Amino acid sequence: FHVPKAVNEPVKAYRPGSPEKEAVLAAYNTMWNAQIDVPLYIGSDEIRTGNTKNMSAPHDHKHVVGTYHLAEKKHVDMAIESALAAKNAWADLAWEQRAAIFLKAAELIAGPYRAKINAATMIAQSKTIFQAEIDAACELIDFLRFNVEFMTQIYNDQPKSNSDMWNRLEYRPLEGFVYAITPFNFTAIAANLPASAAMMGNVVVWKPSDSQVFSAKVIIDVFREAGVPDGVINVVFGDAAMISNRIFEHADFAGIHFTGSTHVFKDIWKNIGNNIDKYKTYPRIVGETGGKDFVIAHPSANVKQVVTGIVRGAFEFQGQKCSAASRGYIPQSLWPAVKEQLIADVKSMKMGSPADFSNFITAVIHEGSFDKLASYIDQAKKDSDAEIIVGGNYDKSVGYFIEPTVIVTTNPHYATMETELFGPVMTIYVYDDKQWSETLRLVDETSPYALTGAVFSQDRYAIAEATEALKNAAGNFYINDKPTGAVVGMQPFGGARASGTNDKAGSALNLLRWASPRTIKETF
Ligand code: GLU
Repeated sequence: FHVPKAVNEPVKAYRPGSPEKEAVLAAYNTMWNAQIDVPLYIGSDEIRTGNTKNMSAPHDHKHVVGTYHLAEKKHVDMAIESALAAKNAWADLAWEQRAAIFLKAAELIAGPYRAKINAATMIAQSKTIFQAEIDAACELIDFLRFNVEFMTQIYNDQPKSNSDMWNRLEYRPLEGFVYAITPFNFTAIAANLPASAAMMGNVVVWKPSDSQVFSAKVIIDVFREAGVPDGVINVVFGDAAMISNRIFEHADFAGIHFTGSTHVFKDIWKNIGNNIDKYKTYPRIVGETGGKDFVIAHPSANVKQVVTGIVRGAFEFQGQKCSAASRGYIPQSLWPAVKEQLIADVKSMKMGSPADFSNFITAVIHEGSFDKLASYIDQAKKDSDAEIIVGGNYDKSVGYFIEPTVIVTTNPHYATMETELFGPVMTIYVYDDKQWSETLRLVDETSPYALTGAVFSQDRYAIAEATEALKNAAGNFYINDKPTGAVVGMQPFGGARASGTNDKAGSALNLLRWASPRTIKETF
């Protein structure tokens, strides 16, 4: 079987007066006041537990956009049971039938649901239209289309045989159910983690982030309309620890697909380890966690490229990317020019509501994130080894707004050079031009993470040295480009060390984790 060749979904421009801009604004205005009530989705049931929480807009946090229902233990059990009940029929369905469902989901998002999924992402995750379009529309569509192509490659990858011996690989789904825990910062990741496991014939219990329920609801509508059968993806909201504890005790727990924080992922490993004797099979543990992603400029670097790399890498998406640039190493000789351009560019960024399409940056996700960022900014204002050269203001009276901020430090181990802040704060260390090789070592040793990083240089020997010296410091390594914005099908995404299991999202490697192949040998 061959599936349609996957192509990346083009990013729409949302020019003033364009039909796509009118459509997304109309959806935004309708959904802003829709007051939706999101139930749990278990099998064919929509369950309203009565125990609810509000969904609000981070850029206007007093505005409630709807409510969602929280699961109790019994609902987690029901979700598991319903997944297991759907398991055999789903696994037995020919894989091209499953593929067709997810290709249809991609087309629904590309067409009738595009404005809706973008608007939900803009409202409740506070993304600008461009951030939403890149994430909730294009990346999500790309994940679905490309994963179908990877799935085809996997199923067609067969061992050698000869005339009297036929060898085949049967790519069975895992024996049990898969648990997906997804983050707020990417609607595409939220959809991809349950979908990629389901595509490979698995049944799933999906726990979206509390801050992403609005767009999760649109994803669920799309999956249902596309034909994902009842029980294949069950959705529970609520207390992550309670839900996880319940799931990790179950004999049929077969794997977790996770994106979130490093400490939660480490707790998950421990929890799974403590329950290991209960399981029928060793669970697959796949996770993408934190980052403390670097930009390092060599003295030969092009200043304009460096500044663009920092500004886009650190501040697009409010810096709320695992991949966001958050520590920079700039040589003394370039620093005056980099500093001047950086300050000018950051000052030109407009911050405000996503409803105004001219804003470049909006609010961070919630009060906890705001308070954490504000406290590090306050500390930098006091510390003698740190200086804020641009930004440094914040205001949560209406929304959780943190000004894009650049800290310069004389201490390469300053707190914000090492700690992941997950917001629009970038810290820069200015190094002595003669210390290039030492600085590469510093970059490698400073952080426990290894997700993304960027080197800027016009000197091929320096690029080669950095590529070698930083071999293990980043799973996605960029030369003369920002460390963010991996495109599905182009730059498979993921890192090792404290950043995750490096099972490259948007690649066949990731999909393979959701299969348990059986080798069949037959002689005649
Ligand atoms: N894939 C995204 C990028 O390359 C980041 C995803 C994340 O933040 O988890 O920027």
